[in-house]
Amino acid sequence: MTHIRPWRYHELMRILVDIEGLPWDKAWTITVNTCAYTNHTVLPEALERWPTHLLERLLPRHLEIMYYINHRFLEEVSKKFPGDSDRMRRMSIVEEDGEKKINMAYLCIIGSHAVNGVAAIHSNIIKTDTFRDFYEMYPDRFQNKTNGITPRRWLLLCNPGLSDIIADKIGEDWVTDLYQLQQLKQFADDEQFLRNIMKVKQENKMRLATYIQQEYNVTVNSSSIFDIHVKRIHEYKRQLLNILHVITMYNRIKKNPSIQLVPRTVMIGGKAAPGYHMAKLIIKLVNNVANVINNDPIVGDRLKVVFLENYRVSLAEKIIPAADLSEQISTAGTEASGTGNMKFMLNGALTIGTLDGANVEMTEEMGDENIFIFGMKVDEVEETKRSGYNAQQYYESNSDLHQILDQINNGYFSPEDANLFKDIYNSLVYTDRFMLLKDYEDYIKCQDRVSEAFKNPLEWAKMCVHNIASSGKFSSDRTIKEYARQIWGVEPNEIKLPAPHEGLDSFQDTDKKDEKK
Ligand SMILES: *Cc1c(COP(=O)(O)O)cnc(C)c1O
Repeated sequence: MTHIRPWRYHELMRILVDIEGLPWDKAWTITVNTCAYTNHTVLPEALERWPTHLLERLLPRHLEIMYYINHRFLEEVSKKFPGDSDRMRRMSIVEEDGEKKINMAYLCIIGSHAVNGVAAIHSNIIKTDTFRDFYEMYPDRFQNKTNGITPRRWLLLCNPGLSDIIADKIGEDWVTDLYQLQQLKQFADDEQFLRNIMKVKQENKMRLATYIQQEYNVTVNSSSIFDIHVKRIHEYKRQLLNILHVITMYNRIKKNPSIQLVPRTVMIGGKAAPGYHMAKLIIKLVNNVANVINNDPIVGDRLKVVFLENYRVSLAEKIIPAADLSEQISTAGTEASGTGNMKFMLNGALTIGTLDGANVEMTEEMGDENIFIFGMKVDEVEETKRSGYNAQQYYESNSDLHQILDQINNGYFSPEDANLFKDIYNSLVYTDRFMLLKDYEDYIKCQDRVSEAFKNPLEWAKMCVHNIASSGKFSSDRTIKEYARQIWGVEPNEIKLPAPHEGLDSFQDTDKKDEKK
């Protein structure tokens, strides 16, 4: 998510210079010492560039200040890199190719004493790629602050069953010090504890199964793998790659109706931006694929597909505690951090994922034997782009993939309109910006490893324990402490839970809070 409020730099300068009457240099020092910039994405279409013709009409004085900030900055650049006019052109906040625009991310970097990404891999990409020139100009400004999630909402509140069996073993200090969960590693071979973990998971799955029965009138097999992919719908998050796996499973059953495979319930949920045509088409495809599969008697309870509507925090609180498998399958180098990945890990779901965003650090924390990693690494994605990616080659050379893409293209999942999903077919076969086709084969192999592993419940539960026990780093308490000390220059307050007599309102279910309003 982007939370960029770049106007604060020139607005603070305007207040200090125009209203408070400070000299420019003094105002600038205050501004830079006050501001810090957290980057939340490297996708170029999400980095804001404001057309100057709009600023001229709406904020003429602010635009003047931006031009002067840029003028002073480019003087500094030419002092540090004399004669490097190409660098000056690249670093100007005023972009002159085509419509004249202000690059707001560049303005943020210039006006901040600290710049950070939200996971280690993302902070490195910022330094070596996205803002490389600015890193060379101000190396000391660049930092990393790996995202986190609050253990109060994302374990204590949403998963009381799991919270209780953890507290039975290690007490309750983990609620404000999540690293305490490390102590659970000593119980990773304790069969009774593993059985308790499995029991809680099963209860959570049955509760979600009831919800799905009520909301969607779909009967799911609660002993199947609950394979869950919930997040905003976006091409880079590759919900389509998940659908390619679903159709792969379906085609295997159709080809060999008596095939023994580990049953799955695949749930995909998320909202699309209203103007994002491809994202809405992906939602339509998930629903149509679900319709075909769920109503095919040959399939039975070996495979079910559910699109979860209106994905939001209160629904996440119901879904995540019931997950066996968390899908975190973005193209390496595109997901800044992710936080959904952390919520699932903390609730004892195993992850199938790429080495992207915080998945990289999750893998470091738990060891690669406790996570299902597949696909290209970020350097392989870069190399593939450099040498010219040809998606069609993968379509031509993999017969399963070929069949699936043809089904999507010829109306197998849209008998009422055979052309409905043509845009999806064309986008994958002729462009495939996020390289789904190149990662397809490895993804399928990895999913087959997941199914194999699920056949051994105690081994699976042991991996779940390693996931939970390794999630201490991903507490937002750790993140906020790092921001406080290393960016804001303040000492963090101690975390205090409300005393029982003060009520547990702050830990109440989000839906109940909504009802009260
Ligand atoms: C955590 C959360 C997200 C972020 O999920 P990612 O998988 O990190 O993209 C989005 N929406 C809701 C409702 C969430 O709770």
